[in-house]
Amino acid sequence: MSLNRQWTDRDLAVLWHPCTQMKDHERLPLIPIRRGEGVWLEDFDGNRYIDAVSSWWVNVFGHANPRIGQRIKEQVDQLEHVILAGFSHAPVVELSERLVKLTPAGLDRVFYADNGSSCIEVALKMSFHYWRNVGRSDKRRFVTLTNSYHGETVAAMSVGDVSLFTETYRPLLLDTLKVPSPDCFLRPDGMTWEDHSRAMFAAMEQTLAQHHHEVAAVIVEPLIQGAGGMRMYHPIYLKLLREACDRYEVHLIHDEIAVGFGRTGTLFACEQAGITPDFLCLSKALTGGYLPLAACLTTERVYQAFYDDYSTLRAFLHSHSYTGNPLACAAALATLDIFEQDRVIEANRALAARMASATAHLADHPHVGEVRQTGMALAIEMVRERAGKTPYPWQERRGLKVYEHALGRGALLRPLGSVVYLLPPYVITPEQIDLLAEIATEGIDLATREAVSVSVDVDLHPGHRDPG
Ligand SMILES: *Cc1c(COP(=O)(O)O)cnc(C)c1O
Repeated sequence: MSLNRQWTDRDLAVLWHPCTQMKDHERLPLIPIRRGEGVWLEDFDGNRYIDAVSSWWVNVFGHANPRIGQRIKEQVDQLEHVILAGFSHAPVVELSERLVKLTPAGLDRVFYADNGSSCIEVALKMSFHYWRNVGRSDKRRFVTLTNSYHGETVAAMSVGDVSLFTETYRPLLLDTLKVPSPDCFLRPDGMTWEDHSRAMFAAMEQTLAQHHHEVAAVIVEPLIQGAGGMRMYHPIYLKLLREACDRYEVHLIHDEIAVGFGRTGTLFACEQAGITPDFLCLSKALTGGYLPLAACLTTERVYQAFYDDYSTLRAFLHSHSYTGNPLACAAALATLDIFEQDRVIEANRALAARMASATAHLADHPHVGEVRQTGMALAIEMVRERAGKTPYPWQERRGLKVYEHALGRGALLRPLGSVVYLLPPYVITPEQIDLLAEIATEGIDLATREAVSVSVDVDLHPGHRDPG
């Protein structure tokens, strides 16, 4: 029996995998990974796969990166963890100083969580609690965009909108105000991204005009709606939103958990709009994809609304066991060093251009509705019918065919529904990008060639983290 098979048999006997219909594994192989190096993952039978999705968008400088590894090794002999209430440590202080310096002016306080969803919970609770502390307890609702994704815990799901996924839990969710997304995929023919995103702002303006007295915050994924199918929009929307939030006294929460740390072409997406949100949520690439860590940055103004005598009960009494873990902070510090020393943002421009040129031919494919790109994220949306951008029913699982084809060709390409995307680590080479484009093209040809017969109620959900 192959080594892969030995591990997957043991795995399937005891594990329950994330975001997976486990029955799929009766047919789909599970891939046990023995080691990683740079963009490569290697399984127990010696097959290698280019990690085209940065292992769920977290890895930016490759697997087994010696610089990050070394920093963690030094830290692990020094201090692995300590309670962050009443105590502190060097890595968390240094990291906070650097994050304050790197993020837009005005974000001067850092609160830690240990994963993205928890970080969203922190931002939502802090915003609500801020308004309560300043005597505005009527401000308790959140405005969110359609097709948005902010994580899996209950409040994070409440502000998300990927229906196939949140629908089941609807009775548990907070009552939010949903505004149509500025997503440019369905813009009228000939309209620019900027004009479309600007036009879509009217709905947001109207919602804020009508509800601002009861709204604590608007939460958005800046520039790219990731799990919603890598849908993209123009920074003008963020600029208009910042102005409106100021006018209506509503907080602006930027969830840069997926897009932070260079993915959109700038270190943070908000830089492209020239704005400072009231809360900036960071995770995923923060540690280079090494260890779970999340940071919620906010303003001195928000911080001061909690700063008072204990007996006023204004403190933010929120914590996670692994808040600000030293090993994770050490990994983050090494990651920030690499960004700085290797001038990564500049270097990525050539890689992003290569991603564009390597996939340009797909724009003419009869079953591709759009090839879109923002920085180091490029998405190819497969459609049943090109002219009307008619989607494939999700039940046909076209993306899954691309996924399976890519595995056979040595790539981890994990589509979101019918959206095939490249979101590679920044250590990828131009030749590896070309190879991924070739594999993606073959996979798309294959996946769109055949008629798939399934009896379905057509539900147009654009995707989730699941290639099914
Ligand atoms: C991944 C993600 C989250 C959730 O982060 P987890 O660490 O998976 O809980 C939240 N928001 C966005 C935009 C994400 O992509």
